Amino acid sequence: MNIPFVSFEPMHKEIEDEILEKFKEIYKKNWFIRGEEVENFETKFAEFCGSKYCIGCGNGLDAIYLILRGYDIGVGDEVIVPSNTFIATALAVSYAGAKPIFVEPDLLTYNIDTSLIEKALTKNSKAIIAVHLYGQPADMDEINRIAKKHNLIVIEDAAQAHGSLYKGKKVGSLGDASGFSFYPGKNLGALGDAGAVVTNEKKIADKIRALGNYGSDRKYHHIYKGENSRLDEVQAGFLSIKLRYLDKWNEERRRIAKKYLDEIINPNVIKPVEADYAKHVWHLFVARTNKRNALKEYLENNGIFTTIHYPIPIYLQAAYEELKPMSDALSLTRKISNDVISLPIWYGMKENEVNYVIETINNWR
Ligand SMILES: *Cc1c(COP(=O)(O)O)cnc(C)c1O
Repeated sequence: MNIPFVSFEPMHKEIEDEILEKFKEIYKKNWFIRGEEVENFETKFAEFCGSKYCIGCGNGLDAIYLILRGYDIGVGDEVIVPSNTFIATALAVSYAGAKPIFVEPDLLTYNIDTSLIEKALTKNSKAIIAVHLYGQPADMDEINRIAKKHNLIVIEDAAQAHGSLYKGKKVGSLGDASGFSFYPGKNLGALGDAGAVVTNEKKIADKIRALGNYGSDRKYHHIYKGENSRLDEVQAGFLSIKLRYLDKWNEERRRIAKKYLDEIINPNVIKPVEADYAKHVWHLFVARTNKRNALKEYLENNGIFTTIHYPIPIYLQAAYEELKPMSDALSLTRKISNDVISLPIWYGMKENEVNYVIETINNWR
């Protein structure tokens, strides 16, 4: 058997006719930027998140960066960032001119350990970025409680968690503003790069919309030194189609995850956990073992392809050389990067493929 880490084929086959029809429609209309497709998607996606406003933008990194600028967070400011995340979370802070302050994860959920946040705050702290890593929400009540106490902005990085729930509420509605990525591999993916900001605050929504459009609130009036980071009509049209299937696709991920959780029984493999408060959408199914490289190679030899999220912590990346001194304080993050392995979990995986992954792992010694 040959099981890729991810395949878009079953998902895209199902919607092929609709996508091609939509492309034809937009192609004939000859209107590609800031039109009704974007407006329609923004309305639908805000609704989906249980939030008031959605502003499409170029990608997930821009979404977080635009939120930081929207709240005037920049030079001299510090932002709490989980140390166990994709580098984009930290890059957004660096782009804004602020300093990412890393906080270690909780080993059970892989999300930020909220008991460590207050120790990391200084008089320069302005915001906390809560990443809903691998598709599971961070502990938002606790994060919001700390933020309120210390007068901090709460930003959700929901790039991996479209549709997941925290205590019954959708991510994207749990902080001051949220950044989403629609990178093709995300649970809701465009057919290229795309992203969005979601918020309940009109003032911030208006400002972020202007910031992503050259800082312009009316044509040729520029009130900020903004960027060009916009969602385009073609991607918005595709995303509106895919959004209608998202719940179904997420349920399928949940079904596969449940099978993995129930049936993978190997004392050397530690399975991920769905927190009591969470409805996990399993962007990734991340297991752990202290013989990770051996397991990865063994699975590959048996035709099962896995990925590591992430093999090198941000503070050990060449780009963040100035953070090397933090190494000792972030040993758990390093251990996670050595031990984690992401198993195939995608819409359209066949029953016998899921069973084969389970059997193969259970036979590993
Ligand atoms: C993918 C991702 C991003 C960045 O999204 P892009 O659209 O690739 O820029 C940010 N944060 C996390 C946690 C991600 O997984």
